[in-house]
Amino acid sequence: MTDAYPHDDEQEPVYRCTHCPRLLHADELHRYACRICETRATEQVQALHSLYRQLETVLRPGKTTSTGRAPASRTAPLPVALQPLTLRGPGGIVSMLLGIEQRWRIQLDWGFLPQRGGYEASLAGTVMVIANNLPWACDEYPDVAADLKLIGSLHAQASAAVSGERDTRVPVGECPAFDEGGAPCGQQLKVSPWAMVIRCGSCGAQWRRDEWLRLGAAMRGLPLPGAAA
Ligand SMILES: [Zn+2]
Ligand SMILES: [Zn+2]
Repeated sequence: MTDAYPHDDEQEPVYRCTHCPRLLHADELHRYACRICETRATEQVQALHSLYRQLETVLRPGKTTSTGRAPASRTAPLPVALQPLTLRGPGGIVSMLLGIEQRWRIQLDWGFLPQRGGYEASLAGTVMVIANNLPWACDEYPDVAADLKLIGSLHAQASAAVSGERDTRVPVGECPAFDEGGAPCGQQLKVSPWAMVIRCGSCGAQWRRDEWLRLGAAMRGLPLPGAAA
């Protein structure tokens, strides 16, 4: 006996974005990544241009420390901000983005990366090529999810290094919100101890402090507090 129809559990992942847990809309079914991921990655890759410049300011010598004292210049080596240095240096933002561009060029049969000059010119050029071709990549490039993840990670690291903030958020569990298709979002939720709301970075669902108890119950599949038994 042959089974002409694939089982639901084999078929289902095809209809999800390969980068986030969203179900693809009817007009997105041919795509590897959803339009929300495409839009977010476009904004992130474009923002990397100015973040790269701002990282230079973070690195500038003589910048006062958080205690208000300028680091003593006589005693070397300084406790330099390693993260901004790494992001701006070899193997940092520019190299990573050029790596993405090169992978896409191979897939598109475009040949090798052009010589654009120094870091700034390379960055400007590669940001433009990536932003312009994100619609293609999300549509047709099977490995786009890894590159979307890399763009998101570079953006998060650069933003954190520029603002001097460390991620103090703690994971609280998987987002229990359901999308239109009835599938749970499943994104890992994180919350800062001082936050007034928990917001899901994937589906956008949010819970105020007074709703956190209900969120906890929903995550554990328990009846909602206060609900009639
Ligand atoms: Zn997506
Ligand atoms: Zn969610």
